[in-house]
Amino acid sequence: MTIVIFVLVLWYGSLFFQSFFLHRYAAHQVFTMSKTMERITFILTWVFQGSSYLSAYGYGIMHRMHHAYTDTDMDPHSPSHDPNLFAMMWRTKTIYQDINKQRIVIEQRFTKNVPQWRGFDMFASSRFSRVLWITLYIIFFAYFTTSLWQWLLLPITFLMAPIHGVIINWFGHIYGYANYKMKNTSKNLFRFDFLMMGEGYHNNHHKHASRANFGVKWYEIDITYLIIKLLNTFGFIRLKTVTVKE
Ligand SMILES: [Zn+2]
Ligand SMILES: [Zn+2]
Repeated sequence: MTIVIFVLVLWYGSLFFQSFFLHRYAAHQVFTMSKTMERITFILTWVFQGSSYLSAYGYGIMHRMHHAYTDTDMDPHSPSHDPNLFAMMWRTKTIYQDINKQRIVIEQRFTKNVPQWRGFDMFASSRFSRVLWITLYIIFFAYFTTSLWQWLLLPITFLMAPIHGVIINWFGHIYGYANYKMKNTSKNLFRFDFLMMGEGYHNNHHKHASRANFGVKWYEIDITYLIIKLLNTFGFIRLKTVTVKE
């Protein structure tokens, strides 16, 4: 039971920081926050993503490219251009590293205002940090597993961020329903997104990329957005007001 709770905490913790910080803040900037809050969020993202930490800089730029080039051969990840899920994951990883290590020239519209904490990102993305987290997960499992099957959950803890990425970037461009007719393959994966905390409303999000709330219909409850609203009410962040044209 302890192991299942541990994996769930890592799943939702790392997903929250991916959705809240990397996606809605770094890439789309739907809210603002102070420099101190930003640094605290960098550290919490490292704590929850652990061995699969993603930098806001690499994620932010790559994700903006996904919106600009969706389903074309310039899309950093697309089921329309990659033969299978693993090929897509590999290509995504290569492009992400090229951006982070500044091996490719990137247009200014993709880099504009993307938050970066260079020193911390280097540490959090280092082999030392990744191996440290993996060791900690193994020790935790060794201590708390009560039956053998629970060890099957261990690889998930190593790869939280790419697993979350692939659910949306692969399945969210193949399966589900569409509220909006788009020139791309984006779909809403669930009518109520309990699994991906609102990220699953991917068709809605492609239509209104600068909207903080990814839900449109009454049943499309966006859990990350509810937390964002709460953080805004308590003054930790400041939501931007955007007028939405249907
Ligand atoms: Zn997409
Ligand atoms: Zn987006």
